Order: sequence, then C-alpha cells, then structure tokens
Amino acid sequence: MNIAPYDVAIIGGGPAGLGAAIALGRSRRTVLVIDAGQPRNAPADGAHNVLGLEGITPGELLARGHAEASTYGVTFLGGAVRTAAHDEGGFRLTVELPDGGAGAVVGGSPATGDSRPTTVRARRLILATGLVDVLPDVQGVREGWGHSVLHCPYCHGWEVRDQRIGILAGDARAAHQALLFHQLSDRVTILPGWNSQEKGTPGVAWEAGDDDALLKALGVPVASAPVTALCLDGARVRAALLADGSRLELDAVVVAPSFVARTELYEQLGGDAEEQPMGRAIPADPMGRTPVPGVWVAGNAQNPMAMVSASSASGVQAGAAVNADLALEDAERRIHTR
Ligand SMILES: Cc1cc2nc3c(=O)[nH]c(=O)nc-3n(C[C@H](O)[C@H](O)[C@H](O)COP(=O)(O)OP(=O)(O)OC[C@H]3O[C@@H](n4cnc5c(N)ncnc54)[C@H](O)[C@@H]3O)c2cc1C
Repeated sequence: MNIAPYDVAIIGGGPAGLGAAIALGRSRRTVLVIDAGQPRNAPADGAHNVLGLEGITPGELLARGHAEASTYGVTFLGGAVRTAAHDEGGFRLTVELPDGGAGAVVGGSPATGDSRPTTVRARRLILATGLVDVLPDVQGVREGWGHSVLHCPYCHGWEVRDQRIGILAGDARAAHQALLFHQLSDRVTILPGWNSQEKGTPGVAWEAGDDDALLKALGVPVASAPVTALCLDGARVRAALLADGSRLELDAVVVAPSFVARTELYEQLGGDAEEQPMGRAIPADPMGRTPVPGVWVAGNAQNPMAMVSASSASGVQAGAAVNADLALEDAERRIHTR
C-alpha cells in the first residue's frame, strides 16, 4: 500500500508527536502521525506535573491529544516505521502494520487489512520516537517498574512521601537521587548495586566515595551488603534481599536507568546520534532542527530529561518550525516560477 505524500510525517504519537501534530494541523498542513503505541510512561498510574491535568492517566492524556489533533485533520497510522530514506522532494518511510493492519489508518486513507509494510511519503519528518529505559539487571526491577520501582522524584516522588525508599546505587547518580528523595521521606537507604558487572565477572560493589560526606550529612544509611534481588507482591516492592543474607523491608526502590533514544531512523538518514551525560540522543537546535536537512526531532528522542510537558512543548516548537520551513519553500518556489 502506498500512502500519498504528506507535508509532514511525525514518527511517534506520544506527547512530543501529538504536540507537533496539533501545531501543524492548526496550520492547515497535511500530517500523518505513525505510532507503534508504546509510550514510555505507559506503566505509570498517572502523569504528574502536567499543568491543568495533574495526575491524568497516560492513556487518557494521549487519547485527548489524539482527539484534539484529529479535530484539525491530522491522520493517524498505527504501526512501526522500519526504514526511512531520502526521496525526491522529501522522505520515504516503510511502516510495518500490526496484525493484518485492520483499522490501521484513522481519519485519513482507508485501512487495507494488509500486514505488508506500507510506504509513506512526506516532505518533512519529525522524529518523536522517545527513548528506551535500560533498567539495572536486578531481579524484580522490571516487574515493579513504573509502579514501585521508580526513577524520577518529580514523576512519582510525592506518591511515596514518608515511605521506606531504597536507592539502588550503580553510579554517581545515586547520591543525587538520595538528595532529592530525602526531601520527600526521611526513610531513605542506599542499596549498593554492582558496578562494572560484565558477563562472567563478579563486578565491583558500589561505594559512596566522594559522596560519603553528603550521605552522612543527610542521615542516609548504606545497606550492609549489595542487593541481590527485590521481593515484590505483584508490582509492589516489599523488600530488598542483600548479599549477606539479610532482608530490608521497603515500600519503593529508586533506580537510575540508562536513557537510550531511538536513533535508528535518524542514522538511516545519515545522522549521527550524540552521547549526552544522561544517555544517547539526537542532536538538534532549540527548535528541534537536526543536522540532517528536512528532519526535526522532539521530546525524549532529543532530550532524555524532558518530562511530559517539556516533550509536548518541544513538539509544538518543532511543528511551528517545520511549518515555517515549508511556507518558505513554497514561497521561494513561487518566486522562481514567476
Ligand atoms: C515510569 C515513568 C513514569 C513517568 N511519569 C511521568 C510523570 O508523572 N510526569 C511527567 O511529566 N513525565 C513522566 N515520565 C516521562 C514521560 O514518560 C516522558 O517525558 C514522555 O513520555 C516523553 O514523550 P515522547 O513523546 O518524547 O516519547 P514517548 O511518550 O515514549 O512516545 C514515543 C512514541 O513513539 C513510538 N515509536 C517509537 N519508535 C517508533 C517507530 N519506529 N515507529 C512508530 N512509532 C514509534 C513509541 O511507540 C511511542 O508511542 C515518566 C516516565 C516513566 C518511564
């Protein structure tokens, strides 16, 4: 199936992609949002620090954004973009549709019931593909992720205030997290993890080093031995098991994932991802324009630290910048054909 050229294809329908879609739809651009439907905060009960929508569920937030974008004629395609290439006047994408593709296109071209990759063409691209949280390899972390295994004091710190919080320490970020979670609870404990653990080697237990004075000043203790596993009841953390055989009762555990932006499509287009202090991401100017002509980026794909509001705001900025770029291109074409 070929889908006709759009002004803009937005890859990713999270807060960043939807922010861009609304800005472009309201500018009377033809817009296709292609989304694989795996937003980063999906496991969380609510999204916090979202002005005017405090605590809204992630699914409800996206449903509202989807409905708002549809009002302005934005088209949605459920599927994963597998390839991106330069094409005459823009870009060509191949999209793998989910099982059978039935109902894949909403509010635009008809669905086909065809699971073969779909080809989409667009004049400009916005990459709003988000990132992958690479979690520490400790038993129980994945099971509790987004519920009682947490990473961000602003996303879910209030919800665990005054509770027994363990900070799973793997690197220098542990002291920073202890500092911030100590603001929310005076029952914070550092759980040493294993540093530099390679397959087949035992690894080195985390040590406070220069942060020892800070932890002592806060009154944050370090557990007696490295953590070997978390005990959960469903998605609720109950305790940490330590290498010396002891068990520490807990209500929540804080981890520091590696943030790895989804950069594959950008690299297919000839771009180079950059290493940032918090992970790997796509470089861009303040409006989201990348070094690859015609390609913009928004949200966590560009800034791993961006929360929901910052991500949607960067999407609006990128959408506005793309609209201006297209308007200029069209005006210049008119000048040359006069
Ligand atoms: C557990 C947890 C809780 C959080 N809680 C909060 C909170 O309370 N408040 C807050 O402000 N922030 C919170 N965050 C951060 C928030 O999730 C991010 O700021 C936000 O999701 C970033 O939006 P985004 O659009 O850049 O990426 P995402 O929301 O991750 O959306 C990216 C979308 O792109 C799609 N995609 C990726 N690759 C492709 C492809 N090749 N083809 C098609 N689609 C693709 C994905 O499936 C996904 O749907 C939380 C994060 C986590 C992990």
